[in-house]
Amino acid sequence: MKLGRIWKKIYNKYLNEDMPLDVRIFNIVVLVGIFSGVFSAFLSFLTEPSLLGTASIIALFIVLFLLFKIANDKKKYGIVAVIICAVTNLVFFPVLFYIKGGISGGITSWIIIGILYTFLIVSGKTCAVLVILETLNYAGMMWFSYIHPEFVSEYDTPVQQYVHAFQCIMITGVGIGIIIKYMIILYKKEKEKNIKQKELLEKAKSAAEEANKAKSDFLTNMSHEIRTPINIIMGISDIAAQKDLAPDVRENINAIRIASQNLLDIVNDILDFSKIESGLMQLEPENFDMHLLRMEIIAGANAKRTNKNIELIEEIAPGIPRYFYGDRSKIRQCVSNVLNNAVKYTYEGYVKIKTDYEINGDDVLLTSVISDTGIGIKPEDIERIFDNFNRVDLIKNRTVEGTGLGLAITKRLMDSLGGEISVESEYGKGTSFTMTFPMKIVTDEEIIKKLNENNIINDNISDDFLIPSANILVVDDNGMNLKVMRGLLKKFNPQVDFAPSGQKCIEKVMNKKYDLIFLDHMMPEMDGIETLHKLKEIEGFDTPVIALTANAIQGVEQLYLSEGFDKYLSKPVNLKQIRTCLECYFANEQ
Ligand code: ADP
Repeated sequence: MKLGRIWKKIYNKYLNEDMPLDVRIFNIVVLVGIFSGVFSAFLSFLTEPSLLGTASIIALFIVLFLLFKIANDKKKYGIVAVIICAVTNLVFFPVLFYIKGGISGGITSWIIIGILYTFLIVSGKTCAVLVILETLNYAGMMWFSYIHPEFVSEYDTPVQQYVHAFQCIMITGVGIGIIIKYMIILYKKEKEKNIKQKELLEKAKSAAEEANKAKSDFLTNMSHEIRTPINIIMGISDIAAQKDLAPDVRENINAIRIASQNLLDIVNDILDFSKIESGLMQLEPENFDMHLLRMEIIAGANAKRTNKNIELIEEIAPGIPRYFYGDRSKIRQCVSNVLNNAVKYTYEGYVKIKTDYEINGDDVLLTSVISDTGIGIKPEDIERIFDNFNRVDLIKNRTVEGTGLGLAITKRLMDSLGGEISVESEYGKGTSFTMTFPMKIVTDEEIIKKLNENNIINDNISDDFLIPSANILVVDDNGMNLKVMRGLLKKFNPQVDFAPSGQKCIEKVMNKKYDLIFLDHMMPEMDGIETLHKLKEIEGFDTPVIALTANAIQGVEQLYLSEGFDKYLSKPVNLKQIRTCLECYFANEQ
């Protein structure tokens, strides 16, 4: 009972599982050495009571125990291991060899344990050096005892010799057995620990994957849920703004349009940010007309400038090329974010956008410098403005709307475009952002001709596009969405039917030939994709079908096209998008 408690104490203090593996090996090896040494001294005393021999063995093991304690208290395992192995193998065992009968005594088996210790507790090059020294030392010891047998003390009786040899063999044998057994247990436990850790890691990995999937599902749903009501608000206010209105009503409707556009910007920011975070953002380069892009960006900033007494100045370097190949939509987003911020944080003076370029063969480096005479940014805040959700100078900016995501998104987008963004600012005086975009110049006449043709269609948005003979079907389970589409389509005067479900859509198509179908995706019972597949099974069905959905996650356009839709429109849609879409199918009816 008492022995058990002592072992437990020793185990907890010197061998517990939280200790590093090499320390546990050092401790078990030295402890086995101490116990077998003490046991051996005790047996020697019983079988051959020599006071000097027994005392010297006890003295050595007291020294060994002290060294063991020092190693553990001072955490000096390495040096103590070297001292123990050197003293026992180079001094102590050779002396005992001569005292205890030389080659015919039992010390030879202790020599085996001595060398084993060196391998187990001394590491690296020191181990190799020590083993070589010990081998040389033992070789010298054997040789000397061979040529000078007179220095080797003999046993009094052969019985004593046999008993001592047996005793040494048993003690060292059991000692080595304990060490190996302990090492096997140690190895098994470590293996179990590794397996458990691996399992935990796998679990954590699959939990993270599930969480990521949940996040992207949540994104899809949130995108749909939030865009649907915004679509209704924007669509209805668009329709309402078409009418002759009293000035105060028009002002209110305009306020609704601006607020819902802001809300849409915020939702888009959050969606973009999540897309970037989950690695879903991809580059989509295309040929585009820089002239149109500039007009779009300036028009956007102008719309934000309403009611502000600031000037918006545009400076363009002479001779700047017009047609480029690059990711137009991301370039627009980056420049718009920075320009709109300049308008947002400037209350008097001006906002200036200066565009310059550097040509190198087909490559061009476009530089936009956007400077303002606004509130400026404190030097200590400049570092943080590109961080996620970081809004600075909150006291001054408390009335300014924002998520603190715009510049974080811009920075990431600029990185993916291979561009750079930097900022200089003087607090209270103004700020200047410099952005560079590496792109390719388009010189191919065919591509330029095509771009110009598209521009003519887009530029022609006026009241004269009427398609009275066109038969259009709109399918959506949400009554308000149908109302929005009715209002938007009315401007072009087509024949419009509505269906509140996939099933009703199929029934209508069986009875009437339509020229175009706008089909919502997320509907109860039969969703848009399933409905489309059923429509395609109808004999002779060749009506173009446009996916009209609030799902705006990156990659969905590809999904809809691969499912068989002809086009994809993301809600909220506006008059201009509807018009562009109708023009694709009914331009000849004019
Ligand atoms: P927010 O949605 O708050 O505008 P951004 O990420 O676009 O977020 O900008 C981060 C912060 O950088 C803003 O909160 C603002 O304090 C500061 N900032 C950005 N542009 C300007 C600017 N032109 N002038 C002054 N401060 C600016």
